[in-house]
Amino acid sequence: MSPDSSSRPTARAVAAEVRDGSRKALDVVEQHLAVIAAREPEIHAFNVVLADEARAAAVKIDEMVSAGEDPGPLTGVTVALKDNMCTRGVPTTCSSKILAGWLPPYDATVVHKLRDAGAIVVGKTNLDEFAMGSSTENSAFGPTHNPHDVTRVPGGSSGGSAASVAAGFTQVGFGSDTGGSIRQPAALCGVVGVKPTYGYVSRYGLIAFASSLDQIGPFTNSVEDAALMLDVIGGHDPLDSTSIPQQHPSLREAIQQDVTGLRIGRITDLPAGADADVVERLEVAFDTLRAAGATIVDVQVPAFTFGLTAYYLIAPAEASSNLARYDGVRYGMRVEAADTNAMYGVTRAAGFGEEVKRRIMLGTYALSAGYYDAYYGKALKVRRLISDDFERAYQHADALLTPTSPSVAFQFGAKGDNPLAMYLCDTYTIPSNLSGQPGMNVPFGTGAHGLPVGVQVLAGTLQEPTMFRVAAALERELSGGLQ
Ligand code: GLN
Repeated sequence: MSPDSSSRPTARAVAAEVRDGSRKALDVVEQHLAVIAAREPEIHAFNVVLADEARAAAVKIDEMVSAGEDPGPLTGVTVALKDNMCTRGVPTTCSSKILAGWLPPYDATVVHKLRDAGAIVVGKTNLDEFAMGSSTENSAFGPTHNPHDVTRVPGGSSGGSAASVAAGFTQVGFGSDTGGSIRQPAALCGVVGVKPTYGYVSRYGLIAFASSLDQIGPFTNSVEDAALMLDVIGGHDPLDSTSIPQQHPSLREAIQQDVTGLRIGRITDLPAGADADVVERLEVAFDTLRAAGATIVDVQVPAFTFGLTAYYLIAPAEASSNLARYDGVRYGMRVEAADTNAMYGVTRAAGFGEEVKRRIMLGTYALSAGYYDAYYGKALKVRRLISDDFERAYQHADALLTPTSPSVAFQFGAKGDNPLAMYLCDTYTIPSNLSGQPGMNVPFGTGAHGLPVGVQVLAGTLQEPTMFRVAAALERELSGGLQ
């Protein structure tokens, strides 16, 4: 398995072939199903593989192409969906026992848009239960394994989608990112992963973890593919009141421009904790951009370092409210008991895993009378500080560069039963969730044990075009041999 995503076929290339009739969509699907059959037993990227549905969708697409119709920009592209996105009539579990047996009555907007563009859904992928975690070890169905080294985690919480792309199971995966759940697994699996500006992509049909932070985004084998995916799934959706009511500029066009004249910020007061191999790759990335015509400038983001603490009050607070709906009455599992109140308790005790319970308790505590101002209220003030600090930094820099993950993929059990050690995985990704600004992982060579290392590109609100220009430049230089 090459840690270099450039050796795997891109969605753009496949769509072009199927669209012009030189390749059958069914052929594409069969090829992926064969790769899945060979490696899925050791990877466990999927909660469910929708083989028959994928074949049927492919046949329809091939018929359209034969009839001279255009199924769209993603014709024949295989996609994997994190199992917290609603798919009508298809189990959607959030990798939790509590949703056992529940079938969503509608499709998420993202799923609609992908199908309308000609994409083929191949399966629903594993995650940390309700997207809480950084390794997929919190899945009620067992962990996903990293395709580069199956003794290691793929990252999380969208580990299944990241692994699906890295293993060649699908050309594209989709995840959700509340504190880093797209970018961190992308880094550990050596693929591109994007968290857009809050409101860029509709959250309609995404099962909520922390509603003010959640965003959907793609995992891909190239920066151009990620641009293509966001061009398809982005945009206003009247069904999500937090989606931004405007049209987004084409990111595929944006990446045609190089980085000449762009100012790339180095955060001089970034929290420490990244391993030496990760820091080394980051330095190479700065050099690469300088050589490509950008200017490197020093900036400060003093409140960056408080992001983790604020997040672990705000996200659990919102989760405790969002997860109150799983009460044994409306969704999935129910454990019978003497009366309704007792039924709520035993259902939730049996249905939720340890980490989810921890978050619900933390969040309930942070929101409770007498503690609200001291914890939740204070965290909101820190959130404001972080946004203000980023705003100031973006007056001096067009984009910022940081590590994505402090380390390469770690071994199963490495963080043991120490939740704080796991939370630290998201030190560099969380602040841009709190500020609602875009961030993406770009695979940038290898570190310890020959495992993938990524760098994170951050940009201001709705500055995706700039972020993508920087990402494309990094990718170009890396594939051009500048190691
Ligand atoms: N790892 C972080 C958490 O456990 C982020 C999760 C996410 O982005 N969904 O909360």
